[in-house]
Amino acid sequence: MIDKTGYDESKPLEMHNLQFDIAAEHVNLESWILEKIKRPRREFTVIFPIRYDDGRVEHLTGYRVQHNTLRGPAKGGIRYHPWVDLDEVRALAGWMTWKCAVVNIPFGGAKGGVKCDPLKMSKGEIERITRRYIWEISPIIGPDSDILAPDMGTNPQVMAWIVDTYSVFKGYTCSSIVTGKPIEIGGSLGRLKATSRGAIFILREAAQLLGLDLSRLKVVIQGFGNVGYHFAELIKEFGTRVIAVSDVNGGILNENGLDIAKVFEHSQKTGSVVHYSESTDISNTELLELPCDVLVPAAIESQITRSNAGSVRAKIIIEGANGPTSPYADEILDDKGIYVIPDILANAGGVTVSYFEWVQNVQKLFWTEDDVNQRLDHIMKRAFKEVYSLSKKEKVNMRTAAYMLAIERVGRAKELRGIFP
Ligand code: NAD
Repeated sequence: MIDKTGYDESKPLEMHNLQFDIAAEHVNLESWILEKIKRPRREFTVIFPIRYDDGRVEHLTGYRVQHNTLRGPAKGGIRYHPWVDLDEVRALAGWMTWKCAVVNIPFGGAKGGVKCDPLKMSKGEIERITRRYIWEISPIIGPDSDILAPDMGTNPQVMAWIVDTYSVFKGYTCSSIVTGKPIEIGGSLGRLKATSRGAIFILREAAQLLGLDLSRLKVVIQGFGNVGYHFAELIKEFGTRVIAVSDVNGGILNENGLDIAKVFEHSQKTGSVVHYSESTDISNTELLELPCDVLVPAAIESQITRSNAGSVRAKIIIEGANGPTSPYADEILDDKGIYVIPDILANAGGVTVSYFEWVQNVQKLFWTEDDVNQRLDHIMKRAFKEVYSLSKKEKVNMRTAAYMLAIERVGRAKELRGIFP
């Protein structure tokens, strides 16, 4: 039994490592392989100057961590956020490795980030940061070595600047360096909503298994960005009620169900969901503790910990965000009978359609949106079934089963490839 004491729940890397160790105990691989695949393969830190619109010059720090490349090129997003640090990027890169392995796509894991606050910057400033950051990390990225994507604080426009910068550097247009691009420059239909759509496919499978009728479920969502907003918008299709949503400024509640299109309009106009007229304002802490059927953490890491897990009153948690729940919270949620669908499975729809985008770019093809969504459905359903079967067979929760599946796949790749020289 591993010793679970002494880990800090607010630190994503410690939580990543603990999640890995819990699952690794159940996997039959040599210890040197486990030691190798737990840690990042390569880490790159860059420090570069940026000139703001008012003439000030500041030095920013950026990172790119390639956690694993055993099953294919490194793959992962770029985060612009004031809290970005190397340990957070290491954890996020590791989660990408396990996620790609769970859905069985031929990619490894990576993540990047720049410590900055895009909410306080002009479009021109964000463009200059992006172009300089890409220039700085250009020695280690490439369409066959390390493929970038959006994450918190970055978007399709940022991806377009990445394509342009990398292409200028190479001397020819190279759209497969990044996924999540605008459609006009090689993006894939269906990518924008893919993470949320994938999570909904997983919820559909889980609801069927648990005998729950989707149209009668009450859903609560933390985070109203790409993942949270599209989840709220797409789940309407099933007649499901979204009763609360939140963003960094706070949350809103309407027990009868929120009109998501109107909430979106309000948040576009005012910069936040709070103070929306047909709802009551609540805090993010209150939101996580609301009685509901489905809770979707879709904001940031370390939201459900041992201090609040006991107060969570959902039946199912679908982790749209990466790393929202600590392993200590998992134990409490398991005891309460709450069904947690882990991030590396629940939000893997994003990277799956990113993989489709890359395949289309490499083959110079365009698939229809229906084609993309059907292929996504197939992969998410298959991954859910594989994780669920393993969890039943090994009598472990869904997170441990997902990690076991992923660790076995990556570990076998190492075993087969061996040690060089
Ligand atoms: P985003 O930047 O579009 O939205 C993030 C949302 O979270 C915003 O509404 C923001 O206000 C809110 N938020 C930020 N800090 C918060 C806090 N402290 N409390 C409450 N809300 C807060 O980001 P996104 O792309 O939607 O990503 C959200 C999460 O999903 C991240 O963990 C990301 O790594 C993960 N994820 C995203 C994708 C994707 O395709 N976008 C794929 C897989 C996983």
